[in-house]
Amino acid sequence: MATDLSAFLKQKIESFSVQPVVYAYGTVSRVGDGVARVTGLPGRCYGELLQFESGAFGMAIDLEEDGAGVVLLNTADVIRVGSRVRGTGRVCDVPVGDMLLGRVIDPIGRALDGEEIVSDVYYPVERPAPDLVSRRAVDAPMETGMISIDSLVPIGRGQRELIIGDRQTGKTTLALDAILNQKGKDMICIYCAVGQKASTVSSVIETLRSSGAMEYSVVVAATASDSPALQYLAPYAACAVGEYFMERGRDVLVVYDDLSKHAVAYRAMSLLLRRSPGREAYPGDIFYLHSRLLERAACLSASRGGGTLTALPIIETKGGNISAYIPTNVISITDGQIYLESELFHNGVRPAVNTGLSVSRVGRAAQPQAMRKVSSSLRIELAQYREMAVFSRFGADLDASTKKMLGSGERLTQLLTQGKHELYSLSEKVALLLWFKNSGFDDVAPAQIHDAARAFLQKMHETCGDALAQIDRTGDFTPQQEQAILQAARS
Ligand code: ATP
Ligand code: MG
Repeated sequence: MATDLSAFLKQKIESFSVQPVVYAYGTVSRVGDGVARVTGLPGRCYGELLQFESGAFGMAIDLEEDGAGVVLLNTADVIRVGSRVRGTGRVCDVPVGDMLLGRVIDPIGRALDGEEIVSDVYYPVERPAPDLVSRRAVDAPMETGMISIDSLVPIGRGQRELIIGDRQTGKTTLALDAILNQKGKDMICIYCAVGQKASTVSSVIETLRSSGAMEYSVVVAATASDSPALQYLAPYAACAVGEYFMERGRDVLVVYDDLSKHAVAYRAMSLLLRRSPGREAYPGDIFYLHSRLLERAACLSASRGGGTLTALPIIETKGGNISAYIPTNVISITDGQIYLESELFHNGVRPAVNTGLSVSRVGRAAQPQAMRKVSSSLRIELAQYREMAVFSRFGADLDASTKKMLGSGERLTQLLTQGKHELYSLSEKVALLLWFKNSGFDDVAPAQIHDAARAFLQKMHETCGDALAQIDRTGDFTPQQEQAILQAARS
């Protein structure tokens, strides 16, 4: 027994090996306002998570020979000068996977709605965009349910379409409606809130919940009270969550609400790190901040699974100035913009889309055939109406044909307005525009158009439900179906 034991111990001692874990330590030399400077700490990589003695985390974003500039992920943590910091060897990452559906998380994957999130798969928040050969042209529509958007500035799956406008012009509502409209369309939606009031974010979540949209959605939130570092990470994290689904062949829609606040958070972070300020005090790499994010939106080729990631970034302008620094940057990165105007909004034209300044550069190719047939002349009609409307303000004597055109333009403008969360299916939009094109609304006063449209749709559902279902299924209509709709409407 005793020999057994000594043999056993001997064997254990012989096979014992020490595996030293090597940590590089640094020391905090300066701390304040959510950033810290660390000396020592060799061999760090960009974006690496660092852990402070108190257990708090920071992210190394300025790497120097003798130290690093660190942004703190939680400003409430107590960090003292002289305390030790160690590298974790991990870059910032988020848990990804199906268990995120219906959840609200912060940019580093901590649950904000209760139960902890457990996942085997983590994606780094910063990932390279898909390369050229992995992409294909945008070919499927991403319908918002808004008649004005889907007819005039159609969005395709995999496209980047900017929503831009002053404060309180319905930007968030429009993006939310796009999410609500994806119900039953096999789309995963991600709403990323950056730098907004916590109460605004919670009302968005409430809207998603009550409409049953949370089942296919994820909310990534960094509110105004969070550290600039978390706000900076939020859009990248939301994109990484979307990429997981895209790489598995799914269609994903990501809303970034909004990137102006994202740029401001990054500016705060950079100034605190004492980087040199450039135009409007933004750092020199501010363009790259958004371009590397939006380049990750893609329509993948069949060999990469065929998934898509559509991005709807939001930008807030000041005094309608879309040619300011950040707005022009993001306009040049995206494939088009939807410009929402305060004046239109206050005149009751909601969504307040300025059709002259809004454009979609790739979505036309993806627009369903049925919609293309009924919407081809709308843009020019609206442009003519706007021009004439300016003239008629001078009280000029108008001839009958001009009066007719003004009336028609006014009715069309009214037809393109929609209440919030009031969404139309493809067939409903097509039927309405078809009826408009065939002078169906000519006898209706502009103020009554909304009610007339509702009555018309009810009649359509009662009398030619088959034709409507066919349009929704095939995305096109035959001359017979067109006649059936028009006849039913006239009867
Ligand atoms: P902020 O700049 O504060 O983020 P925003 O541009 O995102 O504002 P929203 O919050 O979407 O604007 O909308 C502002 C207000 O307008 C809200 O009270 C919303 O309910 C209302 N609103 C937006 N769109 C419509 C609509 N189509 N019909 C009626 N009301 C609307
Ligand atoms: Mg908003």
